[in-house]
Amino acid sequence: MKKLNPDFGFGTLSIHAGQEPDPTTGAIITPIFQTSTFVQPKVAEPIDGYDYARVKNPTCVALEGNFAALEKAKHGIVFSSGLAAIEAVIKCFSAGEHIICEENTYGGVTRLFTKVLSKLGLEFSFVDTRDLNKIQEALQPNTRLIHVETPTNPMMRICDLKAIADMAKDNGTLLMVDNTFASPYNQQPLTLGADITVHSSTKYLNGHSDIIGGLLAVNDSDLADQIRFVRKSTGGVPGPMDAWLCLRGTKTLHVRMERHNQNGLAVAQYLENHKAIHQVIYPGLTSHPQYELIKKQMSGFSGMVSLDLGSPHAARQFAESTRIFQLAESLGGVESLISIPALQTHASVPPELRERMGVTEGLVRLSVGIEDIQDLIEDIEQALP
Ligand SMILES: *Cc1c(COP(=O)(O)O)cnc(C)c1O
Repeated sequence: MKKLNPDFGFGTLSIHAGQEPDPTTGAIITPIFQTSTFVQPKVAEPIDGYDYARVKNPTCVALEGNFAALEKAKHGIVFSSGLAAIEAVIKCFSAGEHIICEENTYGGVTRLFTKVLSKLGLEFSFVDTRDLNKIQEALQPNTRLIHVETPTNPMMRICDLKAIADMAKDNGTLLMVDNTFASPYNQQPLTLGADITVHSSTKYLNGHSDIIGGLLAVNDSDLADQIRFVRKSTGGVPGPMDAWLCLRGTKTLHVRMERHNQNGLAVAQYLENHKAIHQVIYPGLTSHPQYELIKKQMSGFSGMVSLDLGSPHAARQFAESTRIFQLAESLGGVESLISIPALQTHASVPPELRERMGVTEGLVRLSVGIEDIQDLIEDIEQALP
């Protein structure tokens, strides 16, 4: 294999990083190592650490190397889902330790923290991380981690990654950033000072709506070892076929994200001028209240658009009338999706918190895919009142 220069552009790294032609045949694509174990030439002397596939699998290792390059990280760590990745990080901590979490985080994360991990004696505070004072107030001597998401789902709140990273460092805690909505093509949290970046690779990284997966990027080797130890001990690893599909997905991440960015902006701008819409929330609109901060830390704005139709009836009517936008949860695939967060992804969030954040039953979320933009706009047009 010719040596890969880490300074190559994002697209070149997407296609080549982490992968080498198969040494036995020259196959250009990393094989799916569908095996549970590896034969050891001598007792307790596995080849290159390959002793059992829960610990290490070559297809997974290729994906980890590829993803690490995209996030400009030293280490990539693959999981069976985004939630398994987040759980593994929290399980590096002990009962009595404290975690600060963005209040508008992915609903499954709130459920994991409040219904599962708090039973083990870990403590959680939920705050609006747009406000640095609120984070400062929530910090305790036993705080070990700040977990943020930016942009958030579905309100597209933005937090200041560099400022929070500095605050975390000053207070001896780690910062974990859920980068699922932006993808590493649009935002690279580790370069802004975060310690851990997490993804549901189910979404943009894989991009084809055919796997569930998670990935973590970290620079600190001790932290990477601790997380790998938890993963080996708890077992949240993907099968090699899923890792292989994700690796195929990341090869086109730069091309797909470019189109998601274009289509997302075009749809948001169209909606902003439509009289049936009360509000459009999209990080790439100058009307977003945090547009200045967004331009500082994101290079593109992705394909996620939220819109307020003002009433539950209008929202439901719209969501059930589109023809190309399919009515489904999830996001980040090549195909466009539509959903009503309050009734679907965020149904388990307490109603008063939903209300406070603006996640009403009139709010619709679009995951704008990479179809032809004229077709998408026409579809929205015919479905709106
Ligand atoms: C989907 C999602 C998750 C959870 O990931 P899974 O792969 O479904 O476990 C976490 N964070 C965000 C922002 C998500 O969209």
